[in-house]
Amino acid sequence: MEFEEVIKKYFPVIFSEVDFVRKTYNALKEFGFNDDNSIASVCLCRDEISHTVRSIIKHIWGEAFNLSSLAGMFTAGKTGLKAAMHHAPRIDGREHYVYYVIPHIAINEEGKVGFCKRKGIKAKSRACGALCLFLDELSNGKIYITIDEEDIEQSLLKRRLLREIPYGQVPDLLDLTKITRKVIQEDLENALEKVVDTTKSDYAVLTGIQIHAPDTNYIWPADSYVVINGKKQELKIE
Ligand SMILES: [Zn+2]
Repeated sequence: MEFEEVIKKYFPVIFSEVDFVRKTYNALKEFGFNDDNSIASVCLCRDEISHTVRSIIKHIWGEAFNLSSLAGMFTAGKTGLKAAMHHAPRIDGREHYVYYVIPHIAINEEGKVGFCKRKGIKAKSRACGALCLFLDELSNGKIYITIDEEDIEQSLLKRRLLREIPYGQVPDLLDLTKITRKVIQEDLENALEKVVDTTKSDYAVLTGIQIHAPDTNYIWPADSYVVINGKKQELKIE
């Protein structure tokens, strides 16, 4: 399959990064969120090729709080979440938090999933590298799940994602990336439930997968919603 076919099959709707962030901004504007009264936070991989979308979020919402580690896993926990909340503007007695959850995957022109080109590197490079390494271990049938003090983030990633994969199965990178998006969303939601006071704050969770295409980066939109006065409403990003 060529790039176009893979995209059509697995990510039938994609937007440019600017369009995705703009659409989410405009959708949230309807609910009273704007760049003056809200703080944005992100769960993105550490990979620099992921940070094009962070730059756009920064441009539209202002500087964003980073809640994530390798692969975009939510590792900042309740402490990180509370810190981001404490930095939120307090306008008319209310706070507004915006959370972007966007793990990433590369697809090259031949439609090969997980491969991309990087500046100054002739060989094919991988993205998400952390997820690819985890898959390598799974495929070899030998997985180390002890917490390696010298490799904390990857150890935590493996432990957490293993819980979502049926015993003995090895997903492909596409499925693993979709599982990862769901896991990050769930872990963030779990912490949000414990930490957010919805009597004084509204928040939104906007998720998707960032795709490194041969020409540029795109976003496939996934679950997105807003919580106003404690009431959840789905958002359609289209
Ligand atoms: Zn990555």
